[in-house]
Amino acid sequence: MAECEFTQVCSIFAQFGPEGLDNFFIRAYCTTGGQKCKRKALYLEGKGPDEVPATLLPNGMQWSTPG
Ligand code: SF4
Repeated sequence: MAECEFTQVCSIFAQFGPEGLDNFFIRAYCTTGGQKCKRKALYLEGKGPDEVPATLLPNGMQWSTPG
């Protein structure tokens, strides 16, 4: 399956992409089309990269960054 088409604009992909398949989200969403990704759903609704919360994880949970 193809990689999600929003990898170039997605901050979660920017954060976790370097981990590649070692990262659950990259493996379960980004490299397999992201059909169930909550972030992708917002992009497809027309939201821009600045409108999709950086803390929204692909599974819909909130990501709390340390600090
Ligand atoms: S987190 Fe979602 S929107 Fe972002 S690149 Fe991965 S599948 Fe696409």
